Amino acid sequence: MAMMGESYEWLRKNMVESQIKARGVRDKRVLDAFLKIPRHIFVGPDQRPLAYEDHPLPIEHDQTISQPYIVALMTEALELKGDEKVLDIGTGSGYQTAILAELAGHVYTIERFEKLSRSASIMLDELGYDNVTYRIGDGTKGWPEEAPFDGILAAAASEKIPPALLEQLAPGGKLVIPVGDMGGQELLVISKDSRGNINRESLGGCRFLPLVEQKDN
Ligand code: SAH
Repeated sequence: MAMMGESYEWLRKNMVESQIKARGVRDKRVLDAFLKIPRHIFVGPDQRPLAYEDHPLPIEHDQTISQPYIVALMTEALELKGDEKVLDIGTGSGYQTAILAELAGHVYTIERFEKLSRSASIMLDELGYDNVTYRIGDGTKGWPEEAPFDGILAAAASEKIPPALLEQLAPGGKLVIPVGDMGGQELLVISKDSRGNINRESLGGCRFLPLVEQKDN
């Protein structure tokens, strides 16, 4: 068993070097978080040997855990220093949530599927992250009771930026979200300055599953 742990550690180092650092992610805190968090425990036993490879992997409910580099790119764009309040939309496996919990002060994470949220919370509890609050619901509405957020990250694509997320972004905060449809998407970084002015920047093309808005009645 010890051998297994050591070989995962080796695969993890290799992932950080050849996929994340090699493509330009430089933030030392981000790189350290990827070295520390065991990605393989967030996927099913049959997927574990593939957990450190350069692509997304299937999880339950026909969802996916994003490609490691994309998780790193989105995380770095939030420019976290350690005491921020972050909103994470699409908990999924909980891997991205764990990375954010390592780098920010508190993470509020929303998932539409109860089963995914529950298994993610069990996993993060086991890893010792007590700075995460979970909600089962529709992330397009944000989490108004806890707003504003210094960082908001969405792991599913929306055709338009949900207005609630822009509203719930603190001055000086950043929102990272894939925008577009299944035909094509762009990974956007929306910044709000201290006066509330909005600036948007693109990190390039991407491919995410859709952010499914819950229609009330
Ligand atoms: N961050 C996740 C990626 C999960 S994939 C990880 O690291 O594993 C995207 C997730 O967004 C899926 O679990 C999907 O169920 C969830 N999702 C889609 N639309 C949503 C919505 N409106 N509100 C909350 N979660 C949503």
